[in-house]
Amino acid sequence: MNDKVFGYSHQSIDETDVKAVTDVLNSAFLTCGPKIKEFEQAICNYTGAKYCVAVSNATAGLHIAVLAAGLKSGDEGITSPMTFLSSANCICFAGAKPVFADINPETANIDPAEITKHISPRTKVIIPVHFAGQSCDMEKISAIAQKNNLIVIEDAAHALGSDYKGTKVGSCKYSDMTVFSFHPVKNITTAEGGAVTTNNEELYHKLLALRTHGVYKEGEMQKTWEYEMRELGYNYRMNELQAALGISQLQKIEKFKQRRREIVDYYNKNLRLPHLIEMPFSNACFHLYPILIDNREDFYFKAREKGLNLQVHYIPVHTQPYYARFGYKYGDYPHAEAYYEKCISLPLYPNLTNEDLVEIIHRIKEIL
Ligand SMILES: *Cc1c(COP(=O)(O)O)cnc(C)c1O
Repeated sequence: MNDKVFGYSHQSIDETDVKAVTDVLNSAFLTCGPKIKEFEQAICNYTGAKYCVAVSNATAGLHIAVLAAGLKSGDEGITSPMTFLSSANCICFAGAKPVFADINPETANIDPAEITKHISPRTKVIIPVHFAGQSCDMEKISAIAQKNNLIVIEDAAHALGSDYKGTKVGSCKYSDMTVFSFHPVKNITTAEGGAVTTNNEELYHKLLALRTHGVYKEGEMQKTWEYEMRELGYNYRMNELQAALGISQLQKIEKFKQRRREIVDYYNKNLRLPHLIEMPFSNACFHLYPILIDNREDFYFKAREKGLNLQVHYIPVHTQPYYARFGYKYGDYPHAEAYYEKCISLPLYPNLTNEDLVEIIHRIKEIL
Protein backbone atom coordinates (compact mmCIF):
# COMPACT_ATOMS: atom_id res chain seq x y z
CA MET A 1 0.00 0.00 0.00
CA ASN A 2 1.24 3.49 -0.85
CA ASP A 3 0.23 6.65 1.04
CA LYS A 4 -1.47 8.49 -1.81
CA VAL A 5 -4.74 10.19 -0.81
CA PHE A 6 -7.71 10.02 -3.20
CA GLY A 7 -10.81 12.21 -3.13
CA TYR A 8 -14.03 11.32 -4.93
CA SER A 9 -13.27 13.87 -7.65
CA HIS A 10 -10.51 16.18 -8.83
CA GLN A 11 -9.96 18.64 -11.66
CA SER A 12 -7.64 17.77 -14.57
CA ILE A 13 -5.49 20.79 -15.47
CA ASP A 14 -2.61 20.70 -17.96
CA GLU A 15 -0.07 23.19 -19.37
CA THR A 16 -2.44 24.21 -22.20
CA ASP A 17 -5.02 25.26 -19.62
CA VAL A 18 -2.41 27.26 -17.69
CA LYS A 19 -1.27 29.03 -20.86
CA ALA A 20 -4.87 29.84 -21.85
CA VAL A 21 -5.38 31.62 -18.52
CA THR A 22 -2.05 33.46 -18.44
CA ASP A 23 -2.62 34.67 -22.03
CA VAL A 24 -5.83 36.36 -20.86
CA LEU A 25 -4.04 37.93 -17.88
CA ASN A 26 -1.68 39.56 -20.39
CA SER A 27 -4.54 40.70 -22.67
CA ALA A 28 -6.76 43.81 -22.70
CA PHE A 29 -9.88 42.25 -21.16
CA LEU A 30 -10.21 40.43 -17.84
CA THR A 31 -14.01 40.46 -18.07
CA CYS A 32 -16.66 41.36 -20.69
CA GLY A 33 -14.26 40.53 -23.56
CA PRO A 34 -14.14 38.14 -26.51
CA LYS A 35 -13.46 34.89 -24.59
CA ILE A 36 -17.00 34.67 -23.18
CA LYS A 37 -18.59 34.64 -26.66
CA GLU A 38 -15.96 32.19 -27.88
CA PHE A 39 -16.69 29.82 -24.96
CA GLU A 40 -20.46 30.14 -25.46
CA GLN A 41 -20.05 29.37 -29.18
CA ALA A 42 -17.86 26.34 -28.33
CA ILE A 43 -20.58 24.99 -26.01
CA CYS A 44 -23.20 25.52 -28.76
CA ASN A 45 -21.00 23.69 -31.28
CA TYR A 46 -20.42 20.81 -28.86
CA THR A 47 -23.98 20.34 -27.57
CA GLY A 48 -25.83 21.35 -30.74
CA ALA A 49 -27.84 24.04 -28.91
CA LYS A 50 -28.57 27.32 -30.73
CA TYR A 51 -27.79 29.66 -27.82
CA CYS A 52 -25.60 29.61 -24.72
CA VAL A 53 -25.23 32.04 -21.79
CA ALA A 54 -22.13 31.52 -19.63
CA VAL A 55 -22.65 32.39 -15.95
CA SER A 56 -20.71 32.65 -12.69
CA ASN A 57 -21.86 29.20 -11.46
CA ALA A 58 -24.65 26.68 -12.11
CA THR A 59 -26.68 27.90 -9.14
CA ALA A 60 -26.82 31.36 -10.78
CA GLY A 61 -27.69 29.62 -14.07
CA LEU A 62 -30.60 27.76 -12.44
CA HIS A 63 -31.76 31.01 -10.84
CA ILE A 64 -31.97 32.96 -14.11
CA ALA A 65 -33.40 29.90 -15.90
CA VAL A 66 -36.40 29.67 -13.53
CA LEU A 67 -36.89 33.47 -13.78
CA ALA A 68 -36.73 33.33 -17.59
CA ALA A 69 -39.31 30.52 -17.39
CA GLY A 70 -41.60 32.97 -15.54
CA LEU A 71 -41.65 31.03 -12.26
CA LYS A 72 -43.09 33.20 -9.48
CA SER A 73 -44.77 33.22 -6.09
CA GLY A 74 -47.77 30.87 -6.00
CA ASP A 75 -46.23 28.52 -8.61
CA GLU A 76 -44.72 25.10 -8.05
CA GLY A 77 -41.61 23.51 -9.54
CA ILE A 78 -40.90 19.78 -9.54
CA THR A 79 -37.42 18.33 -9.04
CA SER A 80 -35.64 15.30 -7.61
CA PRO A 81 -35.00 14.91 -3.87
CA MET A 82 -31.71 13.15 -4.77
CA THR A 83 -29.65 16.14 -5.85
CA PHE A 84 -27.50 19.01 -4.69
CA LEU A 85 -29.42 21.83 -2.94
CA SER A 86 -29.34 24.22 -5.93
CA SER A 87 -31.81 22.20 -8.05
CA ALA A 88 -34.55 22.89 -5.47
CA ASN A 89 -33.24 26.15 -3.97
CA CYS A 90 -33.63 27.89 -7.35
CA ILE A 91 -37.39 27.25 -7.14
CA CYS A 92 -37.39 28.96 -3.71
CA PHE A 93 -35.32 31.89 -5.13
CA ALA A 94 -38.31 32.66 -7.38
CA GLY A 95 -40.69 32.55 -4.39
CA ALA A 96 -42.29 29.35 -5.69
CA LYS A 97 -42.83 26.05 -3.88
CA PRO A 98 -40.42 23.15 -4.48
CA VAL A 99 -42.22 19.83 -5.01
CA PHE A 100 -40.25 16.60 -5.18
CA ALA A 101 -40.84 13.49 -7.25
CA ASP A 102 -39.15 10.27 -6.11
CA ILE A 103 -36.34 8.50 -7.99
CA ASN A 104 -36.00 5.26 -9.88
CA PRO A 105 -33.62 3.30 -7.59
CA GLU A 106 -31.77 1.72 -10.56
CA THR A 107 -30.51 5.07 -11.87
CA ALA A 108 -31.21 7.46 -8.95
CA ASN A 109 -32.84 9.69 -11.59
CA ILE A 110 -36.29 11.24 -11.18
CA ASP A 111 -39.03 8.75 -12.12
CA PRO A 112 -41.34 10.21 -14.84
CA ALA A 113 -44.34 8.33 -13.35
CA GLU A 114 -43.68 10.07 -10.01
CA ILE A 115 -43.56 13.48 -11.76
CA THR A 116 -47.08 12.89 -13.12
CA LYS A 117 -48.36 12.14 -9.61
CA HIS A 118 -47.14 15.51 -8.32
CA ILE A 119 -48.43 17.81 -11.07
CA SER A 120 -50.99 20.37 -9.87
CA PRO A 121 -52.67 23.40 -11.50
CA ARG A 122 -49.84 25.46 -9.95
CA THR A 123 -46.97 23.48 -11.50
CA LYS A 124 -44.94 25.55 -13.96
CA VAL A 125 -41.50 23.94 -14.31
CA ILE A 126 -39.87 20.53 -14.10
CA ILE A 127 -36.15 20.37 -13.26
CA PRO A 128 -34.86 16.87 -13.97
CA VAL A 129 -31.32 16.24 -12.66
CA HIS A 130 -29.02 13.96 -14.67
CA PHE A 131 -27.68 12.08 -11.66
CA ALA A 132 -24.03 10.95 -11.78
CA GLY A 133 -23.98 12.06 -15.43
CA GLN A 134 -26.62 9.70 -16.78
CA SER A 135 -29.45 11.51 -18.59
CA CYS A 136 -32.98 11.21 -17.25
CA ASP A 137 -35.56 9.71 -19.61
CA MET A 138 -36.09 13.03 -21.36
CA GLU A 139 -38.49 11.83 -24.05
CA LYS A 140 -40.97 10.80 -21.34
CA ILE A 141 -40.41 13.97 -19.30
CA SER A 142 -40.83 16.15 -22.40
CA ALA A 143 -44.15 14.38 -23.23
CA ILE A 144 -45.44 15.02 -19.68
CA ALA A 145 -44.38 18.67 -19.95
CA GLN A 146 -46.09 19.18 -23.32
CA LYS A 147 -49.31 17.59 -22.10
CA ASN A 148 -49.40 19.87 -19.03
CA ASN A 149 -47.90 22.99 -20.62
CA LEU A 150 -44.79 23.00 -18.39
CA ILE A 151 -41.28 24.31 -18.97
CA VAL A 152 -38.40 21.83 -18.62
CA ILE A 153 -35.02 22.96 -17.26
CA GLU A 154 -32.41 20.19 -17.26
CA ASP A 155 -29.99 20.33 -14.33
CA ALA A 156 -27.01 18.91 -16.21
CA ALA A 157 -24.42 19.96 -13.62
CA HIS A 158 -23.12 16.35 -13.73
CA ALA A 159 -23.68 15.66 -17.39
CA LEU A 160 -21.53 17.71 -19.78
CA GLY A 161 -20.36 15.16 -22.37
CA SER A 162 -23.25 12.76 -21.88
CA ASP A 163 -25.55 11.54 -24.66
CA TYR A 164 -29.24 10.69 -24.59
CA LYS A 165 -30.67 8.73 -27.56
CA GLY A 166 -27.77 9.88 -29.72
CA THR A 167 -28.10 13.58 -28.89
CA LYS A 168 -25.80 15.49 -26.56
CA VAL A 169 -27.18 16.60 -23.20
CA GLY A 170 -27.54 20.37 -23.59
CA SER A 171 -28.95 20.19 -27.13
CA CYS A 172 -32.35 21.02 -25.56
CA LYS A 173 -34.07 18.66 -27.98
CA TYR A 174 -36.35 17.55 -25.10
CA SER A 175 -36.27 20.67 -22.91
CA ASP A 176 -36.44 24.46 -22.88
CA MET A 177 -33.12 25.08 -21.14
CA THR A 178 -30.14 23.09 -19.84
CA VAL A 179 -27.81 24.21 -17.04
CA PHE A 180 -24.19 23.02 -16.70
CA SER A 181 -21.70 23.46 -13.82
CA PHE A 182 -17.96 23.91 -14.20
CA HIS A 183 -17.05 23.60 -10.53
CA PRO A 184 -13.70 21.76 -10.17
CA VAL A 185 -15.36 18.45 -9.23
CA LYS A 186 -17.53 18.43 -12.40
CA ASN A 187 -16.74 17.07 -15.88
CA ILE A 188 -14.81 20.19 -16.98
CA THR A 189 -13.87 23.19 -14.88
CA THR A 190 -13.63 26.99 -15.05
CA ALA A 191 -12.82 27.09 -11.27
CA GLU A 192 -16.33 28.42 -10.65
CA GLY A 193 -18.70 28.66 -13.56
CA GLY A 194 -21.76 27.48 -15.38
CA ALA A 195 -23.73 27.82 -18.59
CA VAL A 196 -27.35 27.76 -19.74
CA THR A 197 -28.19 26.49 -23.24
CA THR A 198 -31.49 26.97 -25.10
CA ASN A 199 -32.91 26.90 -28.63
CA ASN A 200 -35.48 29.61 -27.84
CA GLU A 201 -34.45 33.14 -28.88
CA GLU A 202 -36.82 34.84 -26.42
CA LEU A 203 -35.49 32.83 -23.47
CA TYR A 204 -31.94 33.58 -24.67
CA HIS A 205 -32.50 37.34 -24.53
CA LYS A 206 -34.12 37.08 -21.09
CA LEU A 207 -31.19 35.03 -19.79
CA LEU A 208 -28.68 37.55 -21.16
CA ALA A 209 -30.47 40.44 -19.44
CA LEU A 210 -30.93 38.61 -16.12
CA ARG A 211 -27.21 37.79 -16.11
CA THR A 212 -26.38 41.52 -16.26
CA HIS A 213 -28.68 43.56 -13.94
CA GLY A 214 -31.80 43.19 -16.12
CA VAL A 215 -30.26 45.64 -18.56
CA TYR A 216 -30.95 45.76 -22.29
CA LYS A 217 -28.74 47.60 -24.78
CA GLU A 218 -29.98 47.12 -28.31
CA GLY A 219 -30.45 48.95 -31.65
CA GLU A 220 -29.58 52.66 -31.46
CA MET A 221 -28.59 52.29 -27.78
CA GLN A 222 -25.43 50.49 -28.88
CA LYS A 223 -24.11 53.75 -30.43
CA THR A 224 -24.32 55.72 -27.16
CA TRP A 225 -24.12 55.47 -23.37
CA GLU A 226 -27.77 54.47 -23.19
CA TYR A 227 -29.12 51.28 -21.70
CA GLU A 228 -32.47 50.29 -20.22
CA MET A 229 -33.12 48.29 -17.08
CA ARG A 230 -36.46 46.58 -17.74
CA GLU A 231 -36.47 43.99 -14.98
CA LEU A 232 -34.53 43.18 -11.82
CA GLY A 233 -31.40 41.26 -12.78
CA TYR A 234 -28.09 40.25 -11.22
CA ASN A 235 -24.38 40.24 -11.87
CA TYR A 236 -23.95 36.57 -12.73
CA ARG A 237 -21.23 37.03 -15.36
CA MET A 238 -18.33 34.65 -15.92
CA ASN A 239 -15.00 36.43 -16.43
CA GLU A 240 -12.47 36.11 -19.27
CA LEU A 241 -10.00 33.97 -17.28
CA GLN A 242 -12.74 31.45 -16.57
CA ALA A 243 -13.97 31.47 -20.17
CA ALA A 244 -10.45 30.89 -21.53
CA LEU A 245 -10.02 27.95 -19.14
CA GLY A 246 -13.40 26.63 -20.24
CA ILE A 247 -12.48 26.77 -23.94
CA SER A 248 -9.28 24.85 -23.24
CA GLN A 249 -11.03 22.29 -21.00
CA LEU A 250 -13.89 21.70 -23.45
CA GLN A 251 -11.40 20.56 -26.09
CA LYS A 252 -10.59 17.59 -23.83
CA ILE A 253 -14.13 16.55 -22.88
CA GLU A 254 -14.25 13.47 -25.15
CA LYS A 255 -10.90 12.28 -23.79
CA PHE A 256 -12.14 12.87 -20.22
CA LYS A 257 -15.35 10.98 -21.03
CA GLN A 258 -13.50 7.98 -22.41
CA ARG A 259 -11.32 7.74 -19.29
CA ARG A 260 -14.30 8.21 -16.93
CA ARG A 261 -16.14 5.38 -18.70
CA GLU A 262 -13.03 3.14 -18.55
CA ILE A 263 -12.81 3.67 -14.78
CA VAL A 264 -16.53 2.91 -14.33
CA ASP A 265 -16.10 -0.32 -16.35
CA TYR A 266 -13.09 -1.25 -14.25
CA TYR A 267 -14.97 -0.74 -10.97
CA ASN A 268 -18.01 -2.65 -12.28
CA LYS A 269 -15.85 -5.64 -13.27
CA ASN A 270 -13.45 -5.69 -10.33
CA LEU A 271 -15.61 -4.64 -7.38
CA ARG A 272 -18.97 -6.22 -8.22
CA LEU A 273 -20.76 -4.11 -5.61
CA PRO A 274 -24.30 -2.76 -6.12
CA HIS A 275 -24.04 0.31 -8.36
CA LEU A 276 -26.16 2.38 -10.75
CA ILE A 277 -27.43 0.75 -13.95
CA GLU A 278 -26.83 2.50 -17.28
CA MET A 279 -29.97 2.55 -19.43
CA PRO A 280 -29.83 1.61 -23.15
CA PHE A 281 -30.69 5.23 -24.14
CA SER A 282 -27.66 6.58 -22.27
CA ASN A 283 -24.01 7.05 -23.13
CA ALA A 284 -22.98 8.94 -20.02
CA CYS A 285 -19.91 10.98 -19.26
CA PHE A 286 -20.05 9.65 -15.69
CA HIS A 287 -19.44 12.28 -13.01
CA LEU A 288 -19.86 9.98 -9.99
CA TYR A 289 -19.38 6.29 -9.21
CA PRO A 290 -21.67 5.60 -6.24
CA ILE A 291 -21.78 2.16 -4.66
CA LEU A 292 -24.45 0.99 -2.24
CA ILE A 293 -23.20 -0.46 1.00
CA ASP A 294 -25.00 -1.68 4.15
CA ASN A 295 -22.64 -0.34 6.83
CA ARG A 296 -21.97 2.93 5.03
CA GLU A 297 -20.92 4.99 8.07
CA ASP A 298 -18.36 2.40 9.13
CA PHE A 299 -17.10 2.14 5.55
CA TYR A 300 -16.79 5.95 5.29
CA PHE A 301 -14.54 6.24 8.36
CA LYS A 302 -12.42 3.16 7.56
CA ALA A 303 -11.93 4.50 4.01
CA ARG A 304 -10.71 7.84 5.41
CA GLU A 305 -8.15 6.01 7.55
CA LYS A 306 -6.89 4.43 4.34
CA GLY A 307 -6.59 7.71 2.44
CA LEU A 308 -9.87 7.44 0.56
CA ASN A 309 -11.77 10.69 1.11
CA LEU A 310 -15.13 9.59 -0.23
CA GLN A 311 -18.37 11.59 -0.30
CA VAL A 312 -22.08 10.89 0.02
CA HIS A 313 -24.28 12.16 -2.83
CA TYR A 314 -26.74 13.33 -1.56
CA ILE A 315 -28.65 13.95 1.65
CA PRO A 316 -32.21 14.08 0.22
CA VAL A 317 -33.06 17.78 -0.11
CA HIS A 318 -36.56 17.46 1.39
CA THR A 319 -35.00 16.33 4.72
CA GLN A 320 -32.98 19.56 5.13
CA PRO A 321 -34.17 21.76 8.04
CA TYR A 322 -35.02 24.67 5.69
CA TYR A 323 -37.43 22.46 3.73
CA ALA A 324 -39.49 21.60 6.82
CA ARG A 325 -41.31 24.93 6.24
CA PHE A 326 -42.93 23.34 3.18
CA GLY A 327 -44.17 20.46 5.33
CA TYR A 328 -41.62 17.88 4.15
CA LYS A 329 -40.27 15.22 6.48
CA TYR A 330 -38.21 12.08 6.45
CA GLY A 331 -40.44 9.32 5.07
CA ASP A 332 -41.95 11.35 2.20
CA TYR A 333 -39.71 9.96 -0.57
CA PRO A 334 -38.81 6.37 0.31
CA HIS A 335 -36.71 5.52 -2.77
CA ALA A 336 -34.46 8.58 -2.37
CA GLU A 337 -34.16 7.93 1.38
CA ALA A 338 -33.31 4.24 0.93
CA TYR A 339 -30.71 5.18 -1.67
CA TYR A 340 -29.19 7.81 0.64
CA GLU A 341 -28.85 5.31 3.52
CA LYS A 342 -26.36 3.22 1.50
CA CYS A 343 -24.70 5.40 -1.15
CA ILE A 344 -21.07 6.51 -1.21
CA SER A 345 -19.09 7.80 -4.19
CA LEU A 346 -15.71 6.26 -5.08
CA PRO A 347 -12.87 8.22 -6.73
CA LEU A 348 -13.73 9.01 -10.36
CA TYR A 349 -11.67 11.48 -12.39
CA PRO A 350 -9.59 11.31 -15.58
CA ASN A 351 -6.17 11.65 -13.91
CA LEU A 352 -6.51 8.36 -12.00
CA THR A 353 -3.91 5.95 -13.40
CA ASN A 354 -4.36 2.19 -13.78
CA GLU A 355 -1.99 1.78 -10.81
CA ASP A 356 -4.21 4.13 -8.79
CA LEU A 357 -7.24 1.97 -9.60
CA VAL A 358 -5.47 -1.21 -8.47
CA GLU A 359 -4.51 0.56 -5.25
CA ILE A 360 -8.04 1.92 -4.63
CA ILE A 361 -9.63 -1.51 -5.16
CA HIS A 362 -7.03 -3.08 -2.89
CA ARG A 363 -7.88 -0.64 -0.09
CA ILE A 364 -11.64 -1.10 -0.54
CA LYS A 365 -11.34 -4.88 -0.42
CA GLU A 366 -9.39 -4.61 2.83
CA ILE A 367 -12.30 -2.70 4.37
CA LEU A 368 -15.11 -4.95 3.14
C1 LIG B 1 -22.75 21.13 -8.49
C2 LIG B 1 -24.20 21.12 -8.71
C3 LIG B 1 -24.94 22.30 -8.83
C4 LIG B 1 -24.39 23.66 -8.54
O1 LIG B 1 -23.27 23.98 -9.26
P1 LIG B 1 -22.43 25.29 -8.90
O2 LIG B 1 -21.70 25.57 -10.21
O3 LIG B 1 -21.50 24.93 -7.80
O4 LIG B 1 -23.37 26.36 -8.54
C5 LIG B 1 -26.28 22.20 -9.17
N1 LIG B 1 -26.87 21.01 -9.34
C6 LIG B 1 -26.19 19.86 -9.20
C7 LIG B 1 -26.91 18.56 -9.42
C8 LIG B 1 -24.84 19.88 -8.86
O5 LIG B 1 -24.17 18.72 -8.69
